Amino acid sequence: MFDVHVHAAPDVVDRIGYDDEICSRYADAGFSGFVLKAHHESTVGRAAALARSSGLDVVGGVALNSAAGGINPAAVLAALSSGGRMIWFPTADAHTQESAHLPRLNDLDPRLDRHTLAVPPVLVPRDNQMADIALVLDLIADHDAVLCTGHLSRRECRWLFDQARSRGISRFLLTHPSYTVPGMSPAEIGELADVGAYVEITAYQLWHQPGMTETGLAAVARAAGDRLVLASDAGQPDSPQPPQALEQLVKALGGQGLDHGRLQSAADETPRKLVLK
Ligand SMILES: [Zn+2]
Repeated sequence: MFDVHVHAAPDVVDRIGYDDEICSRYADAGFSGFVLKAHHESTVGRAAALARSSGLDVVGGVALNSAAGGINPAAVLAALSSGGRMIWFPTADAHTQESAHLPRLNDLDPRLDRHTLAVPPVLVPRDNQMADIALVLDLIADHDAVLCTGHLSRRECRWLFDQARSRGISRFLLTHPSYTVPGMSPAEIGELADVGAYVEITAYQLWHQPGMTETGLAAVARAAGDRLVLASDAGQPDSPQPPQALEQLVKALGGQGLDHGRLQSAADETPRKLVLK
């Protein structure tokens, strides 16, 4: 299996293990690799070190939050030129995060201002902001990298998909679209999957999303069709170890009547094809 979304220490919050510990867990469970994600720093160097020491396909990238300078072409160019594959649009510093009262970096220190990040149609961009967004998308297209929607809203995800497609980006992943942020319905998700967006469902949603059920996740999985990607998004001290978290998600969806072979692909071949060149 290949887990397209996991968090490890060091981080600004507690994690279930350090990079090397998490990597060993995946190796022991027979995984071929994983994507190391962090909200507030590039994981490209950390992932490369793990890939070299473990022989697994460990992949990193950068999330375009305030610590990366927001939607910042320099951060994107640096990440993609040094082997990174993933660009997440704003997550912890997206405007959705603030309005949903989810954790932000500036919760740690009130001296930091609480400005948030957005793209059209939520944001009415100044000229330089639009140029930055356009250049970020061009860089992703040039490197044939993976554009992930982060915690942008439903309307922003749609806008971003259209922009991505017009620029030739084919690797487009809706980051847990049925989670609290962005909170897309199965019908909305199905519309984007039908035109080529990959759809992530995470094991994190099973345990930590208020109001979400296994039935609800199964409806999303059905809407995603062959664009489904299953991931753990684990790393929280109160979640199972990441490989087991992903295995439990596959099992939970299997219990909802989804085809086992399809679920296995969604946790293995599909994310590998999405992420690796
Ligand atoms: Zn995550």
